[in-house]
Amino acid sequence: MSTIDDLPPLAKVIADHGLSARKSLGQNFLLDLNLTAKIARQAGDLSECDVLEIGPGPGGLTRGLLSEGARKVLAIEKDIRCMPVLEEIAAAYPGRLEAINGDALEVNPLAHLTPPIRVAANLPYNVGTELLVRWLTPKQWPPFWQSLTLMFQREVAERIVAAPGTKKYGRLAILSQWRAEARIVMNLPPEAFTPPPKVNSAVVHLTALPEPRFEADAKVLSRVVASAFNQRRKMLRAALKGTAPDIEDRLLAAGIKPTERAEQVSLEQFCALAREVAKG
Ligand code: SAM
Repeated sequence: MSTIDDLPPLAKVIADHGLSARKSLGQNFLLDLNLTAKIARQAGDLSECDVLEIGPGPGGLTRGLLSEGARKVLAIEKDIRCMPVLEEIAAAYPGRLEAINGDALEVNPLAHLTPPIRVAANLPYNVGTELLVRWLTPKQWPPFWQSLTLMFQREVAERIVAAPGTKKYGRLAILSQWRAEARIVMNLPPEAFTPPPKVNSAVVHLTALPEPRFEADAKVLSRVVASAFNQRRKMLRAALKGTAPDIEDRLLAAGIKPTERAEQVSLEQFCALAREVAKG
């Protein structure tokens, strides 16, 4: 079988470098380079872009991104054991891979990247969700990224693309769909990973919209939606009691019945409510 580059197969890389998977770092590796190249293709045309990759591990997706033509990849990896492997990949793609050993929640990647920038990652799910929310809620829009191509637990992916009135609809759906176009582009069974996780996975591709679909302050919207869905079975007038003293009036001004539940409220209505709450 042909490989995507002249580097050794990933199973050999892992054996040679003693990269036993660590649960504490959420390490479930992708070893099939045809699969990682396919995921890289979901990120769109990379030839004119810098790519930020979080959690490259032994570099399967990194190699996919480079072989698919990324102008430059900046890879941030917490596990220092992966750095020699990433240096070998960097040597095979001169000047195109920069690897940083650090925590993606703390490193600011922007000084190392030139726009346009796309993001790609197969990350532990908790870190992925936290980064996704951060990437979706900067004060200024458009953000630093053009698109995000991210692996999630299938269940989380479904929450990102969920429609109102469904069980999965919540904060992730609203924040994702407010400022981006979000689609599930691939499904992966546990066996695609080494070691296999307990659940199915999916790749979500989000494209940044030039402008949010509806006007709202990101912080206020995020706070209102978090409160509304924290007690999703309660009527909104009760769930949002702590948000503003006259919350019933504000709900009505936003065109929302105070007796409704969060699940039934559209993105447009939540943005209207965030504007009402922001009036102070
Ligand atoms: N991308 C590789 C692949 O597809 O085979 C590895 C995926 S593995 C699910 C997640 C990777 O993220 C691991 O290499 C882990 O060490 C790294 N990681 C975990 N937490 C991290 C963090 N906070 N910042 C950067 N990397 C992290």
